[in-house]
Amino acid sequence: SRIKEVEFVKSSSRARDCPKDERPEFAILGRSNVGKSSLINVLVRKKEVARTSKKPGKTQLINHFLVNKGWYIVDLPGYGFAKAPETARMDWSSFTKGYFMNRNTLVGVLLLIDASVPPQKIDLDCANWLGRNNIPMTFVFTKCDKMKVSKGKMPHENIRDFQQLIGQNYGKHPAWIMTSSVTGLGRDELLLHMSQLRNY
Ligand code: GDP
Repeated sequence: SRIKEVEFVKSSSRARDCPKDERPEFAILGRSNVGKSSLINVLVRKKEVARTSKKPGKTQLINHFLVNKGWYIVDLPGYGFAKAPETARMDWSSFTKGYFMNRNTLVGVLLLIDASVPPQKIDLDCANWLGRNNIPMTFVFTKCDKMKVSKGKMPHENIRDFQQLIGQNYGKHPAWIMTSSVTGLGRDELLLHMSQLRNY
């Protein structure tokens, strides 16, 4: 499950512009500020990858990164900009949903969830939408190193609360991994998990 080589392939503005070579891929998704660029940096250990992904306020793009010439990490636009107008939010959902519904090579979604805050409705909505549409996902909890947290709850308590809220909607719980981009917690576990899913 080692990453030897990562190359940026392209940015696409529509699902149908994405690479067509049939290699398996993992989409990384989460609320803006969840720690997505930091985690991608830690995963691939290459700064320019996350820099390419980070274009705040610009057109929303699907970014494909080819790993070891064999599979893709796909960086999707973040959701949940608090100040975004309703129309921008609608755009996000139709754009991203178009990707999910049309991407046959998608092995799984890594749904990033900030473990330093209590469960957020928008994350629960997203998880429920993916679940209802039978899109395989893994919960990747970010910022698990944080000791100073909002409303006095520790990351493991927020994770437990999130799982309980999700549990009401699922027969079987999605896999989940605790990570920190500060300590590197979860990096190896996440890479191993992805290699197992690819080899199914
Ligand atoms: P993005 O908008 O989802 O790409 O989020 P970023 O990667 O830019 O991170 C947003 C903020 O959270 C930044 O201030 C990061 O330094 C911080 N952050 C990201 N990951 C972690 C983490 O694992 N632990 C802690 N303590 N802070 C993090």
